[in-house]
Amino acid sequence: MTQVQITLKPGRDKAVRQRHPWIFSGAIARVDGQPLDGDAVSVRDASGKWLAWGSWSGSSQIRVRLWSWAEDEPITDELLQSRIRRAIQGRAALAADPQTTAYRLIFSESDRLPGLIVDRYGDCLAMQLLTVGAAVRSDAIVRILAEELQPQGIYERSDAEVRAKEGLERSEGLRWGSVPAEGLDVLENDLHFGIDLAAGQKTGAYLDQRVNRERVAAYCGGADVLSCFSYTGGFELHAARAGAEQITAIDSSTDALAQALENLRRNQCITPVEQIAGNVFGELRRMRAEERRFDVIILDPPKFAANAAQVERACRGYKDINLLAMGLLRPGGILATFSCSGLISADLFQKVVFGASVDAGRDVQILEQLSQAPDHPVLLSFPESSYLKGLLCRVW
Ligand code: SAH
Repeated sequence: MTQVQITLKPGRDKAVRQRHPWIFSGAIARVDGQPLDGDAVSVRDASGKWLAWGSWSGSSQIRVRLWSWAEDEPITDELLQSRIRRAIQGRAALAADPQTTAYRLIFSESDRLPGLIVDRYGDCLAMQLLTVGAAVRSDAIVRILAEELQPQGIYERSDAEVRAKEGLERSEGLRWGSVPAEGLDVLENDLHFGIDLAAGQKTGAYLDQRVNRERVAAYCGGADVLSCFSYTGGFELHAARAGAEQITAIDSSTDALAQALENLRRNQCITPVEQIAGNVFGELRRMRAEERRFDVIILDPPKFAANAAQVERACRGYKDINLLAMGLLRPGGILATFSCSGLISADLFQKVVFGASVDAGRDVQILEQLSQAPDHPVLLSFPESSYLKGLLCRVW
């Protein structure tokens, strides 16, 4: 088989040399050969000089995903194995921490495994294959994960919408071993969480907030806490342990709230928790009308902007909930506000929160700037891997 060669247009090789892992279709001058989706391809600059190994994504705007910049390191099972080992090694401190048994083991491009996400939940692994380059290598990936980690089971959760852009259908189910039918019980910061590998959001939990849950909890002693976009109660459990006086939690998903209640029980939580099944935008307005007041408000919404066209509308959404939340805080109260939209930079997010503070007529101090937990590392040559930002503010 002759190797498919991709030749870039003149001047379009800089990002590749700087090890950015995406090549857009517009940067490609010529394709020699007929790559199938997921096939390994060689990338060369306009003068023919070899640059990198990538995988072909024929239906995506990101036409080639780069895996390796060493000509003697093509995309083989050996490369997969060494990258998976490197990712595991990078989480050694977490693996040794008995208080946390759920964390991200492999974070896609950041671990130089484009499109592969693996989360550890106790003795089981949840796997997402988000690019066709990763999807066609799934058998090898599963085998290597099983060899390296000896999990009880590996469950695939490739149900994210981004797969459609890669021409992939959803793919879900048990890929290796077994998973307990009754669900899993995992620890995060020594708190118990029930995980439903098959039906939970994302791969089961929002692991990227692990560190921030502790940071926010540090302000919750004796506080009336409002947790918006509660999901399964991660922030509430940490707040309760830190001595919150009472907690109100809002989420639109009744399944998530039911799991949150179960999680409160698992941890023998005695703090009064009021759950509201509803839309945060509407509930905050209702609370404003009722003149409710809180000491700590957490805003952890889902991704509001999935593409560039949605950024403006997303900013209006962020401003709306932040403005409403500021109005519900007692003077000196704490606002922990997050955005997980990668397309909204930390700068832009701060400007949006600033806009909300002006309209609210409140003085807002940033006490801490937060980001994603370290098991979701940001690769310097791939700034797109930085997506979660948070501001921990005092609102006067
Ligand atoms: N804070 C959570 C994660 C939040 S994920 C944690 O720490 O685990 C976002 C959550 O927002 C999801 O549970 C989703 O069901 C909920 N959600 C999405 N849009 C909503 C809306 N408009 N009103 C209320 N909840 C919403």
